Amino acid sequence: MSKKCGKFSVHYAAKWEFIAILAGAKLYAENHHHHSCMSNHQKITIVGGGLVGSLCAIFLAKRNYDVHVFDRRRDMRKTGAERGRSINLALSHRGLRALEAAGIAAHIDQIGIPMRGRMIHHRDGSTAFQPYGKEGEAIYSVSRGGLNALLLEAADAHAHVHLHFEERCQDVNLATATASFLNAGGVLHEVSADCLIGADGAYSAVRGVMQKRERFNYEQYYLEHGYKELTIPAAPDGTWALEKNALHIWPRGRYMFIALPNTDGSFTCTLFLPFESSRDDEPAFEDLQTNEAVTDFFRTSFPDALPLMPELCSDFFHNPTATLVTVRCSPWIHHDKTMLIGDAAHAIVPFYGQGMNAGFEDCRIFDELLTKHENTWLDAMQEYNTLRKPNGDAIARLAMQNFVEMSERVADPRFLLRKKIEQRCQTLYPSAFVPVYSMVTFSHLPYSDALREMERQDALFDAVLQLNAIETRWDTSEGESEIRGLMRSAGYAV
Ligand SMILES: Cc1cc2nc3c(=O)[nH]c(=O)nc-3n(C[C@H](O)[C@H](O)[C@H](O)COP(=O)(O)OP(=O)(O)OC[C@H]3O[C@@H](n4cnc5c(N)ncnc54)[C@H](O)[C@@H]3O)c2cc1C
Repeated sequence: MSKKCGKFSVHYAAKWEFIAILAGAKLYAENHHHHSCMSNHQKITIVGGGLVGSLCAIFLAKRNYDVHVFDRRRDMRKTGAERGRSINLALSHRGLRALEAAGIAAHIDQIGIPMRGRMIHHRDGSTAFQPYGKEGEAIYSVSRGGLNALLLEAADAHAHVHLHFEERCQDVNLATATASFLNAGGVLHEVSADCLIGADGAYSAVRGVMQKRERFNYEQYYLEHGYKELTIPAAPDGTWALEKNALHIWPRGRYMFIALPNTDGSFTCTLFLPFESSRDDEPAFEDLQTNEAVTDFFRTSFPDALPLMPELCSDFFHNPTATLVTVRCSPWIHHDKTMLIGDAAHAIVPFYGQGMNAGFEDCRIFDELLTKHENTWLDAMQEYNTLRKPNGDAIARLAMQNFVEMSERVADPRFLLRKKIEQRCQTLYPSAFVPVYSMVTFSHLPYSDALREMERQDALFDAVLQLNAIETRWDTSEGESEIRGLMRSAGYAV
């Protein structure tokens, strides 16, 4: 396998580990096979076998639907993942809960590394650790390829799931749930079904068809920033060159660099930088055209990372510079025949680490709605659209906002003071006050509640930070009582 997969085995997991994961998924599937002996004969087409499409297939297979998944890629369990999309991702509570509901969370610790907080790297090379949540709370760095392969394997082992690769969706009849696919042999063929789910990502072909219909709203927005993936390899003894259980951030105002740990001792790093500079002294991808320019930029901006990146220049010029898009659209359903899920419905910028988590939550909630509405798709789809669309919009805004937090504010002393006071408030009033980051990452409250809470807390802390000499008094009983007064006026039951 390692030969065929090339980069795959290096980046994702050691060969034995990967095989163990697949074996685990098979075992899971064997245990669950008896539930799915009888098909209920309703046929569902899922376009896209990425993270969300493959999880959705598992949920539907457990309900005994005949599920056909079509993906334009080759079977990544055999070929390894493509370069380009992020190599690892942060999986948090929402994603884990959905995986648990589908019965696969038990395997996650094999491909995930817990990250208990942010490790901030300052320009002078010093570092500071900011825990994410309460003691014991963590998000997990998981390999995209490893997780997708695990989900495909668990889906494939269900009797009523049929996976079809190298099948590119070209067109969809939204009213009849009929799709046409171009296969590897260049043959265009039609597939009919009772219902069709578009899980084909940010550039969804299914959504593309919806866009041509009247009364479909669509908006896309590209960030001025692009991103490029780079690597910090494992140290010579195979261990991690930086603290393993943290998400590393080098915040530099308008740009930043981050690193997430992999199970093989390496880190996958992402540089977020504007494509073009708007000021002379501001770095941009357009200025980084030579090995010297790249090395100089890293030496000034991320001095402690540079020595850990022996392949920096070759990686930099070999890996693509990718774009960051936000997509908002509505409705996510077309009658009771076609629906969008995951990035196809709501592509967001990656700064809250929630895109996949939100897509997994879509799957779990839709499954619960099918239970609630006794498998009446029309009712389940309508409620899915009503419930999830505002949450998709909310996480899109929160994600955009978190870019400002990660790149600018984590290095700002006022912001750090606010974080300390927030933590104090959380300790003093654990039921009345929950930081927004915790609501998004460690809870299942709707994203739209978290967005409202962000606005309320921003106003609260604007007022708190204006209190006289608060930087020296915030943890005194007098300071605490003034903060409590402001919290009460903001509506907190403290
Ligand atoms: C740099 C970066 C970092 C990220 N980090 C995080 C993170 O830390 N945490 C997190 O939760 N999320 C993160 N995300 C977001 C996450 O990657 C997406 O939300 C997630 O991949 C969405 O899954 P999906 O299955 O909806 O779409 P995709 O993963 O895009 O899968 C779509 C699938 O559809 C297939 N397809 C596309 N078009 C067609 C067609 N016409 N016919 C047939 N098949 C088709 C594709 O081959 C693919 O397999 C990040 C994203 C980026 C770009």
